[in-house]
Order: sequence, then structure tokens, then C-alpha cells
Amino acid sequence: MAALKKISKNSYLFMNILGRKYQPQLSICRNLNLQEYHSKDLLRQHQVTIQDFRMLDSKLDPKSLSDFKADEYVIKAQVLAGGRGKGHFDNGFKGGVHLTKNPDDILKLAKNMIGHRLITKQTPKEGILVDKVMVAESVDIKRETYLSIVMERSYNGAALVASPAGGMDIETVAEKTPHLLKTIPIDIYEGVTDEIASEVAEFLEFKGDLKKKCSAEVKKLWQLFLKVDATQLEINPLVETHDGRVVAVDAKINFDDNAEFRQKEIFALDDVTGMDPREREAASLNLTYIDMDGSIGCMVNGAGLAMATMDLIMLSGGRPANFLDLGGGVGQAQVSAALKILETDPKVKAVFVNVFAGIVNCATVANGIVAACKQNPPKHPIVLRLEGTNAETARKILKESGLPLHIVSDADEAAKMAVQLASKQ
Ligand code: GDP
Ligand code: MG
Repeated sequence: MAALKKISKNSYLFMNILGRKYQPQLSICRNLNLQEYHSKDLLRQHQVTIQDFRMLDSKLDPKSLSDFKADEYVIKAQVLAGGRGKGHFDNGFKGGVHLTKNPDDILKLAKNMIGHRLITKQTPKEGILVDKVMVAESVDIKRETYLSIVMERSYNGAALVASPAGGMDIETVAEKTPHLLKTIPIDIYEGVTDEIASEVAEFLEFKGDLKKKCSAEVKKLWQLFLKVDATQLEINPLVETHDGRVVAVDAKINFDDNAEFRQKEIFALDDVTGMDPREREAASLNLTYIDMDGSIGCMVNGAGLAMATMDLIMLSGGRPANFLDLGGGVGQAQVSAALKILETDPKVKAVFVNVFAGIVNCATVANGIVAACKQNPPKHPIVLRLEGTNAETARKILKESGLPLHIVSDADEAAKMAVQLASKQ
């Protein structure tokens, strides 16, 4: 199955970074994302300089920290989302990253995080439940810079993205101060040469000995990127410390799902606890769910149609609340389950089923929708545009069901109707 599993926030990011005008984009793969502590383990294995750390889980066992001493500690909520520092918890506690010099405060801070939902710019509105925190030795930061390596379609390969303005949203840097962003395509065979590493270190404003240290870190990060089949490796911030070190303070790595067969150990670390429950439910049914911020729940087949549907909705003045990609070869029970997943999203005000069937059978989709609606009367208006294999039969099934469904054969019209119906709710 072509795994359209997540709208890549990265694709927004790099559309911006590369200076192209923002357009809503869906990426066609989910790409495994690891928690920071797992990513940092990989960094450490590749000799990248990181802070020493320990982990605390919901047991809050002080013994986990008994051999850990530092002048200052940084306590970091572990969720699969960035922006933790500026986030807040559902219990009112502010910030998913805290510094303290007092070892007695560590457990108190962790208690405010573990078992609570952290809400950041990158999480769903309801936040993500935190079940682990990292306790690391804090570094004395002089400067924060940004460094990432990404697989970039427009270069047909990898690119290094660097900015001396680290620690903040790189999208904002790209938009407001594009001169502070440098993108260097990397030849996959040559890799990051000494020249490139040094050019990056210089652009990041590391001087003298620090420039050498930074170049070395950049090269190690490239080796890691290659070795683990990453699609993105982002260090934000890569810091200069007052005691003259270059340290990767935060790490986000995405991995190529197609490399799962040779990265089994890494893929075994996949942590679904923090995953959006609807995304998790969909994944368990071999479907793909993507959360967005609008009001129209969308059921589609295929990433291309998801993108087209998003455009249609936005051109009609609406916004998608989510996407559920049925993929190919979907069965009736999966379609019914898919509709239920869409309807559990409190943002949804109308559902738009847009299927252009080839391998998928429209009649199966229609039967799935009808079965779901008969079991649980739909909470929202449902607009269906079913074209392709067995579309005629599908329309007949829908009409004969006697359910108040809106069957529209033109995709534009269908999108407009979904937007209108959502606005009336
Ligand atoms: P994010 O908010 O999810 O991106 O989490 P980060 O790990 O990037 O931390 C957010 C911010 O907290 C960083 O940009 C730093 O300014 C600060 N921070 C993180 N770790 C440390 C640390 O060890 N020492 C100090 N002084 N600040 C830190
Ligand atoms: Mg960060």
C-alpha cells in the first residue's frame, strides 16, 4: 500500500525554505518519527555530541536518576511534536522544557508533565499525552543555530539546510529572514565533503576551533542520515556553549518507510502511544488518517486525490478537518470503520467522500457507508462523489438506502456542497 499516512508538516516547511510560495501539500508517506530520546540514542551511537540524559516514566522512580548529577538539569516532555518549549499542558502547566539547578525539583516538574497532554503548535488541539520525560544535563547555551538534512524532491536527493538563527520556527526564519537560511544540495555519492561541512560551519557563524568542531558534527550527522535511511534529520537547536562546545540539543529524525526491511531495530522503536487516536485506529485497519484543522471530514482514495480534494475544498472557501485515505483494495467493513473514525473528530461538521475508483470498487464504498449509517445514524451531512469502477451500482445502493445522503457526480459541485453544509452546522 502506498502509505499516505501523514500530511508532512515538513513539506510545508521545506516549500517555504526553498523559497516557493506556500501551497497546501500532502506527502505520500508517513515516515517513521522517533521520540527525541530514541533519536538522541542514534546520535550518540554516531558520536554526535549530545547531552547525557536519563529517562523518567510514569513510575517517577527516583532510582532512575540516582547516578545522575549535573550543575543544572533540563527536563523535557517526550512527544512526537516540536515546539515543546513554548507549549502548555492541559493542567495549565506551562512549557514542555524546563531548567532547574535543584535536583529535588526534577520529580515535581516531571509530575506536572507525565500523565498530562502537551499542546504545542505542532500537536492536535487536544495535545498529546506525555508518558515519559527526558532529564538531561543542561548545557550553557551561548548561541542557537539550525541544521537539517532532508531528502528534497526538487534536488532529487539530499540537501543540507542551515541557519544561524536556530531555536526558533524555521518556517518563520524562511519567511521573514530568508538570507539567514542556506540550502546546499548534497551529491549522494560524494556526501558532505570537508568543503561543504566547513561552508556550513562558517554560515552558522562558528569561528576558529569551533568551526572545526561544527564541521565534524555536520559530517557525523551526514553519516547518521545515510546509515539509518533518514528522510529528515533536524537539529534545532545545534548550539554553541559558553565552554566552547557544539552540541545537538534537540533532534528529530524521520525514516524512510521503504527502508523498514533493513532498519528493523529502528522501526521496532515506533511509539504509537502519543499518536493521534484516530490515526492509530486507522493504521490498525490499514488505512491512513491525517488530522487537519478545518471542518470537513474527507474520505478519499490515494494521495493524489487527497491533494486535489484539499484544493477543491479550499477553493470553495472551506478547510478539511482531516483525511482518511482508503487506499486500494479496501473492504466494506473498513469503509464503515473509516466513516466512524471521521465522525469522531469533533471538528467535523460535514463529511465529503470523494472516490475515484480504479482498484477500489465504488459499490463497496457505498455499501460500507450505508452499513455504517444504518448502524449509527450520521451525525453530519454526508456528500458523496463516487466515480469509476461500479459508480452506477454505487449510486443505486446509496439512493435505495433511503438515507439522507447528498450524491453529487461533479467533484467541484460536491466540494462546494460540503463546504456549504458544514457552514450551516
Ligand atoms: P522544542 O521546543 O520541542 O523544539 O524543544 P528543544 O529541545 O529545542 O528546546 C526548546 C528550547 O529550550 C531550546 O531552543 C533552548 O532555548 C532551550 N533549551 C533546551 N535544552 C536546553 C539546555 O540544556 N540548556 C538551556 N540553557 N536551554 C535549553
Ligand atoms: Mg527544538
